[in-house]
Amino acid sequence: MSKITKNEGDTARYQEADRRHHMHPFTDYKQLGQKGSRVITRADGVYLWDSDGHRLLDGMAGLWCVNVGYGREELAKAAYDQMLQLPYYNTFFQTSTPPATDLAQLLAEVTPAHLNRVFFTNSGSEANDTVLRMVRRYWDLQGKPQKKTIISRINAYHGSTVAGASLGGMDPMHRQGDLPIPGIVHIEQPYWYANGGELSPDEYGVVAARRLEEKINELGVGQVAAFIAEPIQGAGGVIIPPETYWPEIKRICSDYDILLVVDEVICGFGRTGKWFGSDYYGLQPDLMPIAKGLSSGYLPIGGVMVSDRVAQTLIDEGGEFFHGFTYSGHPAACAVAAANIRILQNEKLVERVQQETGPYLQQRWRELADHPLVGETRGLGFLAALELVKDKHKRLFFDERGKVGTLCRDFCFNNGLVMRAVRDTMIISPPLIMTREQIDELMVLALKCLDLTAKELGIA
Ligand SMILES: *Cc1c(COP(=O)(O)O)cnc(C)c1O
Repeated sequence: MSKITKNEGDTARYQEADRRHHMHPFTDYKQLGQKGSRVITRADGVYLWDSDGHRLLDGMAGLWCVNVGYGREELAKAAYDQMLQLPYYNTFFQTSTPPATDLAQLLAEVTPAHLNRVFFTNSGSEANDTVLRMVRRYWDLQGKPQKKTIISRINAYHGSTVAGASLGGMDPMHRQGDLPIPGIVHIEQPYWYANGGELSPDEYGVVAARRLEEKINELGVGQVAAFIAEPIQGAGGVIIPPETYWPEIKRICSDYDILLVVDEVICGFGRTGKWFGSDYYGLQPDLMPIAKGLSSGYLPIGGVMVSDRVAQTLIDEGGEFFHGFTYSGHPAACAVAAANIRILQNEKLVERVQQETGPYLQQRWRELADHPLVGETRGLGFLAALELVKDKHKRLFFDERGKVGTLCRDFCFNNGLVMRAVRDTMIISPPLIMTREQIDELMVLALKCLDLTAKELGIA
């Protein structure tokens, strides 16, 4: 594509206005003011262009969300047509709209069998706020109102609203604003490379899962309402749990009868090579938050898939549920999400990631393990991570965590690749349309940037 937009060349003007008027999310304002923001002006397929005309291979699918890639006319058309037909109406007070209804039905079809209803939100954060309220409502209606506490995990990411950030296990977020709110506690994450010590991954997986059992016993099962987790922690560093982890978690949730909430905001819609992480790990969530890949990010929309068990209680015993958002089930967002799911189905993108491009990406990614900076490579489907370490043989992290990761990330950005750093863990989550040739291109760029990082650190 050689389309030049009128924005290119206006970088300084954008940066100045941005610095003066725009408070960005997850941004150090002083640093942004000094460095100036990078302005992205257009995109197509797996590529982005900035306001200076530089092309970037998007290894992160935006923020883990642009599963079908950029530039999809079907999605633009779905929004356009719906906006002309009915741009907005709400779904409060017993009204509905065709796009919200159609999408709800489609979601019941593509999600695991026992999930047949959806509560619509505008984001993953709102979905997790909804989770908190639904979980507590459920136990109230079961006559067990003292079951309030939700157990989550260190370094989990469940969003940035008050409930989302509290459910999440990010220390820096908790330190700003006196979080978590009461009734939310965190256990160890199944991060073998950092926490496994001398144990094999399989041994460690059971140990990490049993932290849940220990916490339930410590609090008393009468207090515990639910356990929430991402199938694979995303923003926490693409933490792939050992194979033994989820079976043990399943056993514990079922033995103690606490609700299992599986946050599929990243893993959903094909990221693991299955439709949902729950399909990959054989989980039966009681509640399942979704967002991101639901619309491939073309319009904001999220939701909570509600199991038959929880829904039946809310329906039979509940009366009115006093919760919702003005834009819950927004017609244009729902129309785009439905069109997005049709693309995933028609182009068999999930199957392609499972059978062809996912295994290829993982095979090529493992080659990076030979690099002197790389302590571990790991991944699944179209998610992958590598640990940059001080000593790969001793499994030693750098003394000042995060510095080398940022260095490597900046080399990537300046050399045409978007790869993200979580501390010193480099992560990718590419659009599901990425081809073998584009994976090869990603590997060349990633290796080049690892070399540049090593050179800067004085490592051969
Ligand atoms: C991004 C994310 C969220 C929050 O979604 P927003 O749309 O940013 O509010 C929640 N859970 C997980 C697992 C996420 O990755």
